Amino acid sequence: MINKDNIDYVSEIKRLKKKKNVIILAHYYQTGDIQDIADFVGDSLALSQKAASNDAEIILFAGVRFMAETAKILSPEKKVLIPDMNARCSLADSCKAEDFKKFIENNPGRTVITYVNTNIDIKVLSDIICTSSNAVQIIESLPVDIKILFGPDRNLGNYIMNKTGRDIIVWNGACHVHEEFSLEGILKLKQENPEAKVIVHPECKLPVRMVADYIGSTSALIKFAKKDDAASFIVGTEPGIIHQMKKENPSKKFIPAPPRDSTCGCNECSFMKMITMEKIYRCIRDERPEIMIDPDVIKKASIPINRMMEISEKLGL
Ligand code: SF4
Repeated sequence: MINKDNIDYVSEIKRLKKKKNVIILAHYYQTGDIQDIADFVGDSLALSQKAASNDAEIILFAGVRFMAETAKILSPEKKVLIPDMNARCSLADSCKAEDFKKFIENNPGRTVITYVNTNIDIKVLSDIICTSSNAVQIIESLPVDIKILFGPDRNLGNYIMNKTGRDIIVWNGACHVHEEFSLEGILKLKQENPEAKVIVHPECKLPVRMVADYIGSTSALIKFAKKDDAASFIVGTEPGIIHQMKKENPSKKFIPAPPRDSTCGCNECSFMKMITMEKIYRCIRDERPEIMIDPDVIKKASIPINRMMEISEKLGL
């Protein structure tokens, strides 16, 4: 791809990647061109595992900031780069450390389990981290009488509570993308495409989850779309995921679930989409912006993340 500066980003990124021993990790919500240039594309759990086990000297994270921070916690000796430091996450930012600390203090005696979509100061306050791929299994692996405090996503929390039947209280946070899907829009699409299966992420609101044929994490949705016999799917998560779905199933049809406001394009994650090929090129060339975290904070935040990794490994996830 030649741009206005006359630089072929794809070949330049490939050249610099090899020269500097860089691995590019990309989330499924990145644009298709970025997914195609990445060495590895995955969900938060798979990306964390990859960050912890690779020989590259530099990790470039095409995703949002909490993901790059997680990579740094798991590989503190490596240089971890993010093409745009402002690529944050509305869900992570809906949970501020001072308020969450009070929430924990007001509900003593509970095991604090937080979703990986949190800023590092929340991870430090947590006992175990989970992702949407492993949340249910991690909670089910704990003794039944353990009381849980979960954050920050109220929809994922509600989903886990219903699935596990455990005693869980949930922080009232949400993702601006997954909360925006329109139930009416999905039902209209279903009427127009009666054969299509509705597949959604557990961060969606309950009414949307209730009309779904399947609910799962990004990687679970991709697997389901591959193995299921349906020829078309209405997809209730960030539409970047459709790139992988189409690559794996060229003959199947994938329809993005619409947001409530059809003019806003807000079923796309504006933070994920801050990452561009141009920014990746500049980031790999200049080796900045770099994620820098105090080693003591890394040490504290690595404890709940490592517990997640250990439990996931033990459960074969
Ligand atoms: S889609 Fe939602 S949860 Fe995911 S990064 Fe964007 S704001 Fe955060």
